[in-house]
Amino acid sequence: MPVISSRKPYRIGRSRTGLGLFATKPIKKGTKIIRYSGPMLDCRKKKDDAVENKYLFQINGRWTIDGSVRKNIARYINHACKPNAESDVNTRKRTVHIRAIKDIQPGEEINYDYGTEYFKEYLKPIGCKCDACEKKREKLRAEARAAKSGAAKKSAAARKSGAAKSGATKSGATRRAKAVTAARARGTKAAPATRGTKAVTGTAKGRAKTRAAGNGTRAAANPRKAGKTAKRGRNGL
Ligand SMILES: [Zn+2]
Repeated sequence: MPVISSRKPYRIGRSRTGLGLFATKPIKKGTKIIRYSGPMLDCRKKKDDAVENKYLFQINGRWTIDGSVRKNIARYINHACKPNAESDVNTRKRTVHIRAIKDIQPGEEINYDYGTEYFKEYLKPIGCKCDACEKKREKLRAEARAAKSGAAKKSAAARKSGAAKSGATKSGATRRAKAVTAARARGTKAAPATRGTKAVTGTAKGRAKTRAAGNGTRAAANPRKAGKTAKRGRNGL
């Protein structure tokens, strides 16, 4: 693992889905945390355009950062749908910084939103593992359980009152509906992402579409055909 100076306010650590970047010191809202760095690829050059990996960060229609290099610690930052940081793209300087959009406490994982295109391409098909999405799934599961046990109670009550009316035996009335356990996780079906969705050229407000999976996504995306994943947003391919 790359060595990180102890002066830095972050460290690499275990996250839900693999590795991630975690705050080791309080980070104030608005602070530039780290630069997303790597060789600059020019999509007009054949050789550059042929580069395929999951750490490509699109600056604009032409330029993309290849963030797969080891020294790019920012590549460890995972995606979150409700993140505490954002990617701040300076198209003129062709730089990307990850900036805190909330106060971040020591121990908290640092996340930013990889953007809609990336989400659709890589995360949605396998189910996003970020906190917000996990919570949403948990809520849906709880609701499904509640709905099922509610329905079970209702039918038990109906049987009971029916039994009472018809003067049925006590044992009939005390019969209980078994609560059914529940509900598979939603949205985790491993449908392969469709290729050839139109790539975006030009970026919406600092959110490069190509951005690379952090480790969480990398782990999740591994089962898919390696190497042939669509290179997002580079040049309209
Ligand atoms: Zn999510």
